Amino acid sequence: MKDATPSMVLLSEYRAPDWVVEDLDLRFDLDPASTRVESLIRVRRAEGAEAGAALRLHGRDLELLRLEVDGKAPESGAVTTDAEGLLLTGLPDSAAITVETCIRPEANTALEGLYVSGGTLCTQCEPEGFRRITYFPDRPDVLTRYRVRLEADASRYPVLLANGNRVEAGELPAGRHYAVWEDPFPKPSYLFALVAGDLSCVSDRFTTRSGREVALEVYVEHHNRDRCAHALASLKRAMRYDEDAFGREYDLDVYMIVAVEDFNMGAMENKGLNLFNAKYVLASPETATDNDYVHIEGVIAHEYFHNWSGNRVTCRDWFQLSLKEGLTVFRDQEFTTDCTLFGVKRIDDAQGLRAFQFPEDAGPLAHPVRPDRYAEINNFYTMTVYEKGAELIRMLRTLIGREAFRRGLDLYFERFDGQAVTTEDFVDVMAEASGRDLARFRRWYTQAGTPRVTARTHFDSRVGALQIDLEQETPPTPGQQEKHPLHIPVRLSLLGRDGRVLPARLEGAAEATEFVVELTEEAQSFRLSGLREAPAAVSWLRGFSAPVRLDAGQGTAELAHLVVHDDDAFARWDALQALLRRAVIARIGSEPDPVLEAALTTAIGALLEDSGIEPVVLATLLDLPSHRELMESFERADPVAVDAARHAVEQAVFQPLAERLASGAPDPGRWDDGAFTAEAMGQRRLLNRILALRVAIGAAGAVEDAVRQYREARSQTLAMGALAAVNDSADPARGELLADFERRHRADPLVLDKWFALESGSQVGDGLARLERLLDHPGFRWSNPNRVRAVLGPFMAQNHRHFHREDGAGYQRLADYLEHLDSLNPQTSARLAQPLTRWQRLDPARSAQMRQVLERLAGKDLSPDLADVIQRALAR
Ligand SMILES: [Zn+2]
Repeated sequence: MKDATPSMVLLSEYRAPDWVVEDLDLRFDLDPASTRVESLIRVRRAEGAEAGAALRLHGRDLELLRLEVDGKAPESGAVTTDAEGLLLTGLPDSAAITVETCIRPEANTALEGLYVSGGTLCTQCEPEGFRRITYFPDRPDVLTRYRVRLEADASRYPVLLANGNRVEAGELPAGRHYAVWEDPFPKPSYLFALVAGDLSCVSDRFTTRSGREVALEVYVEHHNRDRCAHALASLKRAMRYDEDAFGREYDLDVYMIVAVEDFNMGAMENKGLNLFNAKYVLASPETATDNDYVHIEGVIAHEYFHNWSGNRVTCRDWFQLSLKEGLTVFRDQEFTTDCTLFGVKRIDDAQGLRAFQFPEDAGPLAHPVRPDRYAEINNFYTMTVYEKGAELIRMLRTLIGREAFRRGLDLYFERFDGQAVTTEDFVDVMAEASGRDLARFRRWYTQAGTPRVTARTHFDSRVGALQIDLEQETPPTPGQQEKHPLHIPVRLSLLGRDGRVLPARLEGAAEATEFVVELTEEAQSFRLSGLREAPAAVSWLRGFSAPVRLDAGQGTAELAHLVVHDDDAFARWDALQALLRRAVIARIGSEPDPVLEAALTTAIGALLEDSGIEPVVLATLLDLPSHRELMESFERADPVAVDAARHAVEQAVFQPLAERLASGAPDPGRWDDGAFTAEAMGQRRLLNRILALRVAIGAAGAVEDAVRQYREARSQTLAMGALAAVNDSADPARGELLADFERRHRADPLVLDKWFALESGSQVGDGLARLERLLDHPGFRWSNPNRVRAVLGPFMAQNHRHFHREDGAGYQRLADYLEHLDSLNPQTSARLAQPLTRWQRLDPARSAQMRQVLERLAGKDLSPDLADVIQRALAR
């Protein structure tokens, strides 16, 4: 039976808990078919709570075996059961509540609460999984100390883990054993975790700067022991970085990471016991690409950083999710920038934001970084809450300066340690530390939508001053028709005719070469004076200083000047993207623009000749704007035509450069060692990008080069680079290489996922028939989220020709698959449904087809997760 659609939860209805949980004692009798959970909750009425206030214990899909208050069954009428769980009335001011429940981990396909993955018992509790384990006030503002006793069969589950420190363990009769764990830090239930399994432990040590010895332990299936070195090295780098850059030190004696195969999310920061999707732990040069290495390092760091931003200081309620996620994404982005990717990280993040968050902000699922209502909180783990949330933190730092920002962060951790707080509290602390008025900045948290900033300049040669006129406007979003001006930092520089930055003075301040103007009104003017020549180009939004769309009305010549000379990697990339976007739009709208395309060829030709550009930056500069981003340039567009125009521009611009591309490509043999260094990864990124370009434009010998690269590759990065290059090619080599790859990696789930993704995303042949064959593949499992995502995701994201078939068969098939998936795993089905919500942006015929499919889905018996997404998609 399905759950009824839950009612809307409103921020305005937040009430502090009436009951304090003094401590919690949990005892698990673990068994995959039937696990018994005994819980002793000692509660005390909160100060200021009404005398008659009831105690809410959340619970879902639980079999209740026993409920006692102070050792006795409660009086009849004192316990009410409803959709949320139990409501206890008539309690004394303090009480000991015993709850015994029975749960069935094996039957849990939603992967929330306690479930089985590859024989290992494990948990996922954020946001509301704990209520599927036992009855408890399952809300983030109820913090308490946990003592957890785990008991299980010793041969089947030799490893028994929970949060905190292990204080006791031993043998029991009948081949069973137990372990007791205590977490000295009070935590909310969403940070609870346990693991029981037959796992290998790969360990290391770390000494914190104050001298605390910490055991680092990574638990994996035995055959994966040799793929943990990168995860451990990443963890140590992250621990050191958090001390150096943010002054944060680890606080327990042990830090554990467990890799599981079936996991809805990337990873989970449970106190001291992180659970990870195996994809973000296991790596070796033969099985993982450079991208995988970078993601693993980033996710390991992210979860580790949560120990302070999330665990020591947590969220008051789920509306505040960005308090921990925005801040922690910001922290992991800083880490990756400083330690691994340097300048190109900002471009990657801006690219991701534009391709995924901007469309979210412009679509039916748009919501503020701090939403004020939700029907299903699972659906708010979004790019807006995470990545736009991180941009808000970065803007704060830009506005108040690095020193005040660091003072603010220190104050935040000190003042709120052990508490559950709000995004308002965070901004308050930053205002206090800097003495700045951040009233208008706060709107970023409550107002959805991507602001559009229009910039115009006028140079007054008589006085050597540049007038800058800025205007801002945020388009309406669902439920928010009226928008207000935001506080937007716009970082800029001026470039002279020779390409060098020009010194100037902003509003009488000291002379500088880079300026941050703060736009706070709908329209505002600024003045840069002391200029000795007219600027040849303005380098706008340097470092992507704000998550806005900026239109500066720049002509081809000005943008081309920036492409050649700009010293800010983001602004330079952005100028080239603007030109490429224009060329694609021209091809869709009316006719190709040969002058523009020739200018692009010239500018890119100059980049290829410029030995001063780092390979990793050059590789990024050679990217075309993504299909998703291009779709955003239109009110409505034909996705297949956009794809075709994108490829036509690629052909026209890069074909004249075919020889220079071939001669400028790094040598695969030299960089095939899989070394995790910025230089080696940059070279591999460039050589794969050039190979893909050469195959795409039909350059002579390109397919042969790809075949050779694949055959000779020792590293997964070069093998995948070759496969990706030929994946949309009609050449028979494609099929041969893909088949070979499948044969070689059939037994390795993470590598096989890459094969599934390539097959699903390929536009060659009959995509729909191939999709069906993938689902029939012996390695396909509906119960494994990674596998399902690898098969359904790329089909919708990359296979434009077949997903957007004119007869609507692509949409229908996907809807059928999602309906089936929804009956097993609602979180994953709801997330994968996003591409089906974009119907309003498609050409009228496809729009009608997609809407029909959504309406049909809406009439089905869906989970609250998927029902919520479909209803919002149809609402506007
Ligand atoms: Zn996180």
